[in-house]
Amino acid sequence: MHPRRPTRQVSVGDSRVGIIKIGGGLPDRHGNPTTPAPVSVQTMTAGYTHEIDTCVAEISRLAAAGADIVRVAVPEKKDTEALREILPQVRVPIVADVHFHFQRALEAVEAGVHKIRLNPGNINDRKQVIDVIQACKAANGGRGLPIRVGVNEGSIIERRDKQKRMKELGAIFSEHKHGYLLAIMITKLEEYLDIFYEQDFHDITISAKSMDAAIVIDAYTEISKRFDHPLHLGVTHAGPKETGTIRSVVALGGLLINGIGDTVRISYANDPIYEVQDGLELVYCLGLRERIGVDLIACPTCGRIQVDLFTLIQDVRKALADKIQLPLKVAVMGCIVNGPGEAEGADVAVFAGDRRGIIYVQGEKVANVPEEQILERLLKECLDFQDKVRRGEAKLGEKKVDIIPPDPIGELGSGFEKIAAHKVDRIGSGGGPTPVTLGRS
Ligand code: SF4
Repeated sequence: MHPRRPTRQVSVGDSRVGIIKIGGGLPDRHGNPTTPAPVSVQTMTAGYTHEIDTCVAEISRLAAAGADIVRVAVPEKKDTEALREILPQVRVPIVADVHFHFQRALEAVEAGVHKIRLNPGNINDRKQVIDVIQACKAANGGRGLPIRVGVNEGSIIERRDKQKRMKELGAIFSEHKHGYLLAIMITKLEEYLDIFYEQDFHDITISAKSMDAAIVIDAYTEISKRFDHPLHLGVTHAGPKETGTIRSVVALGGLLINGIGDTVRISYANDPIYEVQDGLELVYCLGLRERIGVDLIACPTCGRIQVDLFTLIQDVRKALADKIQLPLKVAVMGCIVNGPGEAEGADVAVFAGDRRGIIYVQGEKVANVPEEQILERLLKECLDFQDKVRRGEAKLGEKKVDIIPPDPIGELGSGFEKIAAHKVDRIGSGGGPTPVTLGRS
């Protein structure tokens, strides 16, 4: 992982819904240092904003799933009017997504929204942009509201007076496969942001989305070299979740690994709850924020499997989702061949075999139960262990999983004798039973 790119920092929200900081590392407007905020996860509602009750329910559901910020579309005046009733009912910062009609931005600011998104491709009248900037500057009792400037590949418009600059940039980017497109994106951003700078407005985040993962990586990489604003990463119209996941993770993961990106929105043609879940998993996996809830390790199964592990894994995932708030590492392994190695470091682990499961809590065997009791017992052990951690009687990740013979061999009976005959190396000794490490299958 490269270190995070330092940026200016913007704040979204207020004391009632909470304040989410985006980016950081450069001094604030008063010259005070800022610390880079954890990478936040955003999503967007799929329903109509003017259907107030449904919209509130959707926002609340997305916030409960872990969304830090939720964006809503405001294509019509009835949508910005609805914001007045929606905002007091939700507990997460809300962004108004504005296209074509700058008045929607003014109305949303007036309604008390927490951030505005503008598209330079369809709101590009200088006076209109200045009106929105001034409204955002004055909002929030003079503390101001941030604006995201989002130049999507599909909505940028080529303009005659920028041809020269684009040619210059096109030459700079000639080595890029997508050089011309990058030139347009950078040109559009430079032109647009100049209006903001002239108004001494710097509470800006930038996005430059495309449906092509390679363009996304190139565009954000170039933008990160030229602007010091926090970057909102996304692959636009990434498609159905089945393929959009790979497209998004390749692009966003590639950028985040290189220290680029301060907030992410994964977009799927599906329930936005998946955008939140996958966005969170992405930043957790990269260590860009502290995990809330279970870190589930599970084996893919193979010809050694002797329980219905796929069902068990899904049941465990669902059962623990709402009940475990600590970053508890839980391993669900199909057998003891690779199990102990892969589950090393798990706080709670089950190793299955012969229609049974042996459950370990931080290396100590606590149960050997039939398959139909694995879920219930595993859940109990996870909850008990979480309580112990909360009481200060245990620490997460403190002890590793050790398998002590003869238990796994005798109790699971999953063909281990054959495996053990060739792949068990005895290590260490001492007063008690000898621990073993198990060879990889
Ligand atoms: S060897 Fe065991 S732990 Fe590994 S995939 Fe097969 S069943 Fe799962």
